[in-house]
Amino acid sequence: AEEVGGGDKEVVREYFTNDGFQRWKKIYGDTDDVNKVQLDIRIGHAKTVENVMKMLTDEGSLRGVTVCDAGCGTGLLSIPLAKEGAIVSASDISSSMVSEAQKKATGELQGKDDLQMPKFEVSDLESLNGKYDTVVCLDVLIHYPQNKADGMIAHLASLAENRLILSFAPKTLYYDLLKRIGELFPGPSKATRAYLHSEADIERALQKLFLLSMKRDD
Ligand code: SAM
Repeated sequence: AEEVGGGDKEVVREYFTNDGFQRWKKIYGDTDDVNKVQLDIRIGHAKTVENVMKMLTDEGSLRGVTVCDAGCGTGLLSIPLAKEGAIVSASDISSSMVSEAQKKATGELQGKDDLQMPKFEVSDLESLNGKYDTVVCLDVLIHYPQNKADGMIAHLASLAENRLILSFAPKTLYYDLLKRIGELFPGPSKATRAYLHSEADIERALQKLFLLSMKRDD
């Protein structure tokens, strides 16, 4: 298996533009040609999207709310956000992902004149700028080690005026063990390395930002 040593962005970009794009398009799609593991990922991911949508809509209407979907993939979150009336800025490091998301969004949102098409852009999240009410970044941090993730979290937080929602693969004893076992069997399906993050590390990264922003407000 190829490793994304030190969070090598170029390897991640290459992977998600080519082989990884084909693989993930299938996982995030609705066809039957997925194996058991891929099906589990598909179901788990749909649940995550559902939870995020619930978290956001429970707090009030999304109509007119600006949302940055960083690392948007095939648009599985951007499209439901736009359907709720949010003004979505969606971006991804992979041009293949962005084209696919754009195609899907056009298909699903066409003719709905009261809704805004998400604004799609090819960009790594570190290069994003602007201010958004809400910034969401789902299942991207898993591709980077904690030392890279800290900076990514700090940058995303600097774009958010109100909320930042992140997902990460928790480093628990069980997953750590599972991952180590998986690494003993290098296979074609594991083209990028997956990094687990401990909840404490992610919390520390967020806490540091909170303290900084409190200082700024003083
Ligand atoms: N967030 C989407 C979702 O939940 O449906 C896609 C998740 S997919 C597992 C990971 C995505 O992160 C890929 O589309 C990949 O191209 C993108 N990605 C990886 N590193 C990135 C970076 N540094 N900046 C922006 N996007 C990145």
